Amino acid sequence: MPDCIFCKIAAGEAKARIVLEDEDLVAFLDLNPQAPTHVLIVPRKHIPSLSDAEPGDAAMLGRLQLAAGKIAAQLGVGDGFRLVVNNGRKAGQAVDHLHYHLLGGRRLQWPPG
Ligand code: AMP
Ligand code: ZN
Repeated sequence: MPDCIFCKIAAGEAKARIVLEDEDLVAFLDLNPQAPTHVLIVPRKHIPSLSDAEPGDAAMLGRLQLAAGKIAAQLGVGDGFRLVVNNGRKAGQAVDHLHYHLLGGRRLQWPPG
């Protein structure tokens, strides 16, 4: 396994406040929330960034997005949330394991910073 904090969380080897998990993904609360609801949705498969995803990942990526909608509804933000992928350092990616940020619970500005 790569030395990767999100792989460790997915494997149960590092602590996280998990809100949903299934065979494809684990979703857990962000340690440094940027909104009242801030969940990270992470594939179990170690993919460093969205740019590294391959055609064979398409169905799994679709299921991640479906999970985002389900989690948003469960957490009471189904009527207004944002799903964000920071891809690469210039976009603010700090953890090199693909993750979707699910943000909600406050008014979200556009354009994002
Ligand atoms: P990014 O900047 O898009 O790579 O986002 C990484 C996110 O992971 C940040 O919002 C961090 O607060 C969050 N994060 C890093 N380590 C952990 C952790 N162990 N548990 C929960 N969230 C984390
Ligand atoms: Zn990983």
